[in-house]
Amino acid sequence: MRAIGHFYNGRSQPGDGRLSDVFDPNTGQVQARVALGDTALVEAVVAASKAAQRGWAAVNPQRRARVLFEFKRLLERDMDSLAYLLSSEHGKVIADAKGDIQRGLEVVEFACGIPHLLKGDYTQGAGPGIDVYSMRQPLGVVAGITPFNFPAMIPMWMFAPALACGNAFILKPSERDPSVPLRLVELLIEAGLPADVLNVVQGDKMVVDVLLDHPDIKAISFVGSSDIAQYVYGRGAANGKRMQCMGGAKNHGIVLPDADLDQAVADIMGAAYGSAGERCMALPVVVPVGERTADALRGRLVEAIEGLQVGISTDADAHYGPVVSAAHKARIETYIQMGVDEGAELVRDGRGFALQGYENGFFLGPTLFDKVTPQMKSYQDEIFGPVLQMVRADSFEEALRLPSLHPYGNGVAIFTRNGDYARDFADQVEVGMVGINVPIPVPVAYHSFGGWKRSGFGDLNQYGMDGVRFYTRVKTVTQRWPRGGVLADSSFVIPTMT
Ligand code: NAD
Repeated sequence: MRAIGHFYNGRSQPGDGRLSDVFDPNTGQVQARVALGDTALVEAVVAASKAAQRGWAAVNPQRRARVLFEFKRLLERDMDSLAYLLSSEHGKVIADAKGDIQRGLEVVEFACGIPHLLKGDYTQGAGPGIDVYSMRQPLGVVAGITPFNFPAMIPMWMFAPALACGNAFILKPSERDPSVPLRLVELLIEAGLPADVLNVVQGDKMVVDVLLDHPDIKAISFVGSSDIAQYVYGRGAANGKRMQCMGGAKNHGIVLPDADLDQAVADIMGAAYGSAGERCMALPVVVPVGERTADALRGRLVEAIEGLQVGISTDADAHYGPVVSAAHKARIETYIQMGVDEGAELVRDGRGFALQGYENGFFLGPTLFDKVTPQMKSYQDEIFGPVLQMVRADSFEEALRLPSLHPYGNGVAIFTRNGDYARDFADQVEVGMVGINVPIPVPVAYHSFGGWKRSGFGDLNQYGMDGVRFYTRVKTVTQRWPRGGVLADSSFVIPTMT
């Protein structure tokens, strides 16, 4: 059985304690076992990271950027093998696995601009002979805790800016698909990153708690489900750390009567069922405005669902593959039954789907509900599977209220040809990321990613300039060089500009 360990001191390291099964979601078989770290291991890795960070911070930003440029080249070289590895543990189809890597790579490209991004502000002549300048300095050792659903992109969202800014980074990946994060670190070492500047400790809650309490960890970035995000945020912040914790989602797609329905249906299908719905920017709720729009949309969605192909993750014709685990599959099935019990109309039922030759794989067919109402728990909760719920709205105002009042506020999309409605919607909706005729509005690498309400805890978003801000602290220097060495008299009054 393949063993997956940790990474520190410049190489892969076996674990010697508890283990967790890593499945192949296509077959349902255990394909590897990952080591789970403990307190002693985290202590040792933090100490090694702390020692390495000083030297890395002293490397000038342009040289740090060169390591990232080389890392980008290596990622492109190994794209196929990385995508295959990712797909084998996660279950997303190969093309989607490449998208996972590519979106992370784009943040690496952004971080390659770090010499420019780190430049501070300067004011000459703020007072007589006085200049003021600010600089961004790294925090020291920082950590990232990542979810299973983007095992390449989300680690890169975090460690690319953190390393570029001169920090050492400790990654705690999801225990469900831990191999790709390890490969990323190996590639960075190959690209010239010094040992212990980026380390990986595999593990579960035990490792997370040690990281949250460790005084030498200065900041933690977390992405995962909301209850855990809130817990991690609270405990880390109480320990004085800088925290950013992204949580779950329930994104709505609003379809106005004037929308290009063919395009909207194509977009909604990909966003609802792509990656088996296991994306925090998926569109699991669709809100047609008006009964005519709803009936037309429903008819076309049913037609499109007939053409969906569910297959193993290496099947180039499959639109999506299995979900990540048997437990997650069972949880999704529970929510489908809940929707039925709550009185929603089950239009297509994805339960009981079996793929010939892969009967033990974690597959689910596409599910579609109509007549879902905001009071239903199956609407309020994140399901995170290939389940699309239709909530019919009578008016634009009602469609605007639904995502605004929902406990989650990650992403939302509106499909319309009407610029007035689109503009009002973007202005007023209580959600962090908005798509106008764009179903998955994940911001590009030079903007920042972050949701509102229960989708995000903390002030600074992921990547873009917020990433640089999160992984640095500003120091402001006020300097005076009196001409001819003439000293000023003592003043016992606070200096002012009067
Ligand atoms: P999860 O919350 O189960 O796990 C996330 C991380 O937390 C993992 O590394 C896990 O080992 C760790 N963890 C698990 N239980 C813990 C506990 N009790 N205490 C401390 N740490 C714990 O999430 P997941 O199932 O891996 O990922 C799916 C979730 O992530 C979904 O809710 C999805 O919406 C969310 N997500 C959010 C974003 C975003 O940016 N908002 C992006 C991707 C995924």
